[in-house]
Amino acid sequence: MRRSLVAANWKMNGSREFAEAFFKALDLKGANGDVVFCPPFPYLPLVGELVESSGYDNAGLGAQNVSEQEAGAFTGEVSVAMLKDLAVRYVIVGHSERRSLYHEDSALVATKFRAAREAGLVPILCVGETLEEREASQALDVIGAQLDAVSELVGSDCWNGAVIAYEPVWAIGTGKTATPEEAQAVHEFIRSRLGAAGPQVQILYGGSVKAANAASLFEQPDIDGALVGGASLDAAEFAEICRAA
Ligand code: PEP
Repeated sequence: MRRSLVAANWKMNGSREFAEAFFKALDLKGANGDVVFCPPFPYLPLVGELVESSGYDNAGLGAQNVSEQEAGAFTGEVSVAMLKDLAVRYVIVGHSERRSLYHEDSALVATKFRAAREAGLVPILCVGETLEEREASQALDVIGAQLDAVSELVGSDCWNGAVIAYEPVWAIGTGKTATPEEAQAVHEFIRSRLGAAGPQVQILYGGSVKAANAASLFEQPDIDGALVGGASLDAAEFAEICRAA
């Protein structure tokens, strides 16, 4: 039986004051799955402390990105060792905003995934198709290739201890959500590509998840939780999503 997982991706939002107010308002009573908070890098120590004192045993800390490099002259980058130093457990790799705005291709994403795994972090690998790709019936080919880039570099047993997030690019921050059936079809496909680890891997859906649509998505057999952007900035709404998982 897989545990549910809901991850908050605050993106480049928040402040010290915001984080403190958010955790003051957050009430996770009634939730029993895993919950992960991914604030911007500068707030990791603070959010780590707030998570610790939240009293919710299944809460963890995550980063939104990481360098594939170990250390050295890479201005502006943050290494896996630095994340470990801050008690970070999860790291998002291959978010569509990193792929499109910062030109991270699948080969680079795979090296980040490998660095995270080797350091003992849990990579949350984001995959998903654009609207054009969906309309051209290429969604599964695109997602299959994004997964293959990782397994070809890291090895076919790379999925053990990883999390996958299916995030159709056309649904991120747009208010458009895949229907539960559309999302389930892709999740089932992804699980079938993960080999022996497939039945154990948590596969999240991401793309305009809100309290109002979370329950119908989570009812699907292969949807184990969500990666939540916009709605994770509202403590009450985010807690409701966590309770639905
Ligand atoms: C995301 O950033 O991963 C995301 C899914 O954003 P939103 O929930 O705002 O669509």
